[in-house]
Amino acid sequence: MSTANGHDVFVLPREAGHIVYAPLVGRVVYANDECVAQLKKYLETGDASVVSPDTIARLGGLEWLHGRTPPIPLPLDRHFHPTSVTLFLTNRCNLRCTYCYAEAGEFEGVEIAPEVYRAAIDLVVRNAQRAGRRPRIALHGGGEPTVAWKTLVGALDKKTCAFV
Ligand code: SF4
Repeated sequence: MSTANGHDVFVLPREAGHIVYAPLVGRVVYANDECVAQLKKYLETGDASVVSPDTIARLGGLEWLHGRTPPIPLPLDRHFHPTSVTLFLTNRCNLRCTYCYAEAGEFEGVEIAPEVYRAAIDLVVRNAQRAGRRPRIALHGGGEPTVAWKTLVGALDKKTCAFV
């Protein structure tokens, strides 16, 4: 492990490339030799033109390499305060793929209860607001979320959840 720039950005060899890890700004990317070489040169010279535009676009800019992105504030109690949630809305599915890990559609259909998804969504939204981050709410298959359309709309309704 080596420090790339003195700003807590680390480069770790991994398989055919490297993991570039900036823990204080919550960034981790997988990069090939050429990309790492370009990033190191940029940090040495401050000249962004040494990094290909495609790489800059893929990385969402280069500011984070300097640690200028404000670090995610840790809660004082150091407990886990999630800012993202993945909801499995239902076990129902209209496809019944033979490889389905969830055997979706094989059992009596159930859907997540409104009080459960609202509690989960409100929790991550509150935590995200406190941390100055955007909450992330994902819907996952196994069953198919759109089969539970009413539940899906209810879960993402701004009026019923504390979205901002
Ligand atoms: S949940 Fe996904 S994998 Fe399972 S049956 Fe439906 S589409 Fe297929």
